[in-house]
Amino acid sequence: MITASDPRIGFVSLGCPQALVDSERILTQLRVEGYEIVGGYREAELVVVNTCGFIDEAVEESLQAIGEAMEENGRVVVTGCLGAKPQTILREQPRVLSVTGPQRYEEVMEAIHAHLPPRHDPHTDLVPPGGLKLTPRHYAYLKIAEGCNHTCSFCIIPSLRGKLASRPVGEVLREAQALLDTGVRELLVISQDTSAYGADSKYRPDLWQGQLLRTHVQDLARALGQLDAWVRLHCIYPYPHVDDLVDLMADGYVVPYLDVPFQHDSPKMLRAMRRPAHAENTLERIHRWRQRCPDLALRSTFIVGFPGETDEDFEALLTFLYEAQIDRAGCFRYSPVAGATANALDGAVPDRVKYERFETFMTVQAEISAARLAARVGRQVEVLIDEVDEEGAIGRTHWEAPEVDGRVFLDGLTELPEGTLLEAIITGSDEHDLWAEPTYGHL
Ligand code: SF4
Repeated sequence: MITASDPRIGFVSLGCPQALVDSERILTQLRVEGYEIVGGYREAELVVVNTCGFIDEAVEESLQAIGEAMEENGRVVVTGCLGAKPQTILREQPRVLSVTGPQRYEEVMEAIHAHLPPRHDPHTDLVPPGGLKLTPRHYAYLKIAEGCNHTCSFCIIPSLRGKLASRPVGEVLREAQALLDTGVRELLVISQDTSAYGADSKYRPDLWQGQLLRTHVQDLARALGQLDAWVRLHCIYPYPHVDDLVDLMADGYVVPYLDVPFQHDSPKMLRAMRRPAHAENTLERIHRWRQRCPDLALRSTFIVGFPGETDEDFEALLTFLYEAQIDRAGCFRYSPVAGATANALDGAVPDRVKYERFETFMTVQAEISAARLAARVGRQVEVLIDEVDEEGAIGRTHWEAPEVDGRVFLDGLTELPEGTLLEAIITGSDEHDLWAEPTYGHL
């Protein structure tokens, strides 16, 4: 029970799902220690801002959030990726209480204790067993590793978050079970490179329910698939062992959804980007995956206008999109990030050309997505309901991840609780979304 004398903390969480999980961990610890989390700057006695520093826009957004918290509250603890460059923050906001980089949970708590001490003993029963979540109750991100061993030339994440450090498989599975016990129905497995999970610990075996499993994505996915939830794998690079993951999808252990950040198709561009697994014959692999698992949905991200990208490279990328029939794709115009090695590359692409390529990419991808979604009309599917408004329910099938992909609209279903899983038939589509009608009721 929260009392009037509990210290009150405001919390701003920015950035990617990895950062969101960091926020959840800090929030959970705060609640364990009896802090109250409040929604407004004015009611808070101190504000924590978890920042993002991935690209220039994210840095700008983080600095703005810190500025707003300073103006409205004045007692601000900063953490997260931008915190790895404290001078960027301190130059603009020299009076923040402390600045720490990502995953520095203990230091964040130390700073909070120093400036706003807890007022009573911990009561662990204040905290649900799965910890505090910033996602809706029915899905949760499951972070399996921190950091990354690659050196992609456009990316500074390894310098912000360090080398790959995988959590033991037993620990991840125990967290997954605790999440399911609190009502979670979908687990979103995240890390910077999920296919490399366990490589740092040489796939060290760990105990789960009396069995020894390897700290390896294959063992993890199979064990997660035996729990009662959808399991969705994010950030997979096309290493050879990904074929085994597609087998698990075909066999129903994990949802038939692969989030593979290809970024380009031209071998020259991939080399310049220093992408992992860039030597693989991607198209052939995709065709084999789809033969093995015809229902597979592929999500990816791409960069256009990377230094040295010619018209021919871009045309090759468009051809790849058509041939690979990527279900959903995000596209970024290349922008230099301070500290990235790609900044030293020759062949900068003018902004106008970047913009034109971006527009062309999005038009082509919309056409492909629309055709792939139209082909699903008439299919019987499971839909997990994310939200309900006055017009009806909005959910997702196995083929859509929350936040980044399209949605499924079930018009008129205004009484369903969020987190309901139901069977439905797809009745319509456009370039992003699906429409469906329920068939047999709730699962
Ligand atoms: S794989 Fe590349 S893009 Fe992804 S975090 Fe590692 S270095 Fe960055």
